[in-house]
Amino acid sequence: MRSIFDYKLEDLEEYFESIGEKKFKARQIFEWIYKKHIYDFYEMSNISKSLSEKLNNEFSTDLLTIKTKQTSKLTNKYLFELDDGNLIEAVLMKHDYGMSICVSSQVGCNMGCTFCESGRLKKVRDLTAGDMVKQIIMIQEDINERIDSVVVMGIGEPFDNYKNVMDFVRIINSPYGIEIGARHITISTSGIIPMIEKYGDEDLQTNLAISLHAPNNELRSKLMGVNRAYPLEDLIDAIKKYIDKTNRRVTIEYLLLKDVNDDEKCANELADLLKGMNVYVNLIPYNETSHTEYKTSPKEHVMKFYDILKKRKINVTIRKKFGDEIDAACGQLRANEVNKL
Ligand code: SAH
Ligand code: SF4
Repeated sequence: MRSIFDYKLEDLEEYFESIGEKKFKARQIFEWIYKKHIYDFYEMSNISKSLSEKLNNEFSTDLLTIKTKQTSKLTNKYLFELDDGNLIEAVLMKHDYGMSICVSSQVGCNMGCTFCESGRLKKVRDLTAGDMVKQIIMIQEDINERIDSVVVMGIGEPFDNYKNVMDFVRIINSPYGIEIGARHITISTSGIIPMIEKYGDEDLQTNLAISLHAPNNELRSKLMGVNRAYPLEDLIDAIKKYIDKTNRRVTIEYLLLKDVNDDEKCANELADLLKGMNVYVNLIPYNETSHTEYKTSPKEHVMKFYDILKKRKINVTIRKKFGDEIDAACGQLRANEVNKL
């Protein structure tokens, strides 16, 4: 049975037309689900009994099961079980300016970055749009507060699951849906160039983040297998084209790994690479895991790296270490759980 949460408004409109019903029923269903949080077709008072019955037979409204939840002052981390028993994670980050959720896009990841727990466990399957929508609904219901922004930075490579991720974005962005502003939605990719081009052609005002993590091919290929298929110079070209086309600033994520990519030479090389581009760099402290040798950069390295970029007129911020109090960057909770099996 298809999940109702997989449907974009226009898909649901098409469905209603195909069964000889009025198109506007789709908007009503969207409003019941996403605005009024009613998930039982029989409780939708402007839907006839016979139509409720039909919908009930054709669509599942099941949500997810919370397997574990860890809370701290700044974050809640959720491990969810999907209807087929697979596990995924989502993280709620409590900023001063509002609530932000990091969602997963796949069960595992095939990109195999050497520092990442999500990549250590190969992809089991893509998430459907509904699987992603449900992560937001579950958290929204759990905290009973509005979600302001969404980042697709959890487990998985969103551009290896492009269509479903785009459907997800359109569902949560819809004025009849959860209505999260496009400018408050960010997709992070390890650098799948053809999809960056495609993303630039979408009629959406959503944001792009690129996991760069190294300023040259030699180092980047060691950290990220994807660099062998899409080398750095081509990636930078694709980012420039994207910026030209969309006029939007791109976030460059740079994970700082002690004595691997955090010295002055790397900082200067990175500044050379990004010179004149409309980007801002987010320096990410590494969350150590027991499965890799990588270590978190010490504060002195981080500050030196930051100062060099600043001096070279690159916009740069150091990401608050959100996950650390509960000892988990996205992917680690699931990895621990799967290891136990
Ligand atoms: N696959 C996409 C999105 C998910 S990963 C991508 O790679 O961009 C989201 C971010 O978390 C990436 O920048 C990734 O490099 C980073 N990351 C992975 N493992 C991490 C860890 N242990 N500590 C901190 N960040 C990590
Ligand atoms: Fe996949 Fe992103 Fe992890 Fe790389 S960093 S393995 S692309 S989830």
